[in-house]
Amino acid sequence: MKNIRKVAILGSTGSIGSQGLDVIAELPELEVCALAAGNNWKLLSEQIRLHRPGIAAISSDPPGEMNLPDGVNLLVGESAMVEMVSACDADVVLSGVMGTAGLQAALAAIESRADLAIANKETIVAAGEIIIPAAREAGIHLLPVDSEHSAIFQCLAGSDASQVRKVTITSSGGSLRDFDDEEAENASITDVLNHPTWSMGQKITVDSATLINKSLEVIEANMLFGLSPEQIDVVIHPESIVHAMVEFCDGSVIAMLGEPDMKTPIAYALAYPNRPVRQTACLDLASTGKLTFARPAGRELNAINLAYRVIEMGKLAGAVFNAANEAAVQGFLKKKISFGMIVPIVERILNQTPSTSEVNIEAIIDADRWARQQVQDEIDKIL
Ligand code: MG
Repeated sequence: MKNIRKVAILGSTGSIGSQGLDVIAELPELEVCALAAGNNWKLLSEQIRLHRPGIAAISSDPPGEMNLPDGVNLLVGESAMVEMVSACDADVVLSGVMGTAGLQAALAAIESRADLAIANKETIVAAGEIIIPAAREAGIHLLPVDSEHSAIFQCLAGSDASQVRKVTITSSGGSLRDFDDEEAENASITDVLNHPTWSMGQKITVDSATLINKSLEVIEANMLFGLSPEQIDVVIHPESIVHAMVEFCDGSVIAMLGEPDMKTPIAYALAYPNRPVRQTACLDLASTGKLTFARPAGRELNAINLAYRVIEMGKLAGAVFNAANEAAVQGFLKKKISFGMIVPIVERILNQTPSTSEVNIEAIIDADRWARQQVQDEIDKIL
């Protein structure tokens, strides 16, 4: 009999959270101990009735009756998620929450000595310099849920970073991969949200289309695995079957392959260090046929290159890059700016990143707020 791993999910009503719950329902060795959501109180109530966590959190007062089963401790308010993480005694915390709330909850998880399965690359990009040393000091595992980073983690399988020559992460090219650069400029929200291979939340689907998602992932790989910018490469791979490859110093290349399904990296992270037994269809490369690879070009390359600038700038550049992007994506989804304006706005604001002598939580939160305000000012100028 395997030990049961108790899982807390932050952002349980989002795309990662709901897929995480499906994975837990599938695997007898996993059990939900805590669920936190933002304001989707109806879905959270359903999830609580189905999965019976001992504790749950919601960030704002539910406007209706949640009809919770007896014995569920529901915490309400802005700091409810952090309190829940500290109180729930999870073995692993799956975090799909972005922004400052996600950062504080991640730190609370590390402090409680739970492993952290991190699906929100934004937290690593903005605050990796704080999260990664904290995780190391606490002796917990930081388990990547992003498919490319789960792939790198599996290919490395404990190898020393000094044996790595190069890591390649793949990009599907996103929803606009068949658009030329000019057509992409004015792509509609419907076009942008229509991802060809991966089923994900709205924000990340827009990021896939701009290729900023890949930019964030290059920074994430730099942070998580201590790889230098020269060691990280991106190729466009529309079939999304190869997720990442690691080339070692002897010329051997190990790649991780699989159908594009977020439940695979989620299950791997939640069950770690065991490999869970799952009823998935076998990968059938003969019926997939061709796997194709291309170098990014044009607008793709412009967006990916911002990652290398962020790494070179260091300090608050990651926080500014991430916040400016989140705000610009919101601006696009609210129809305030065109698709083609997202990357240039992010780049302009990145280039004005405030300097700081020390990177700490306060400085990161200030930089985040500053960058969002800069985007708002740019949008106000246009309107
Ligand atoms: Mg990814």
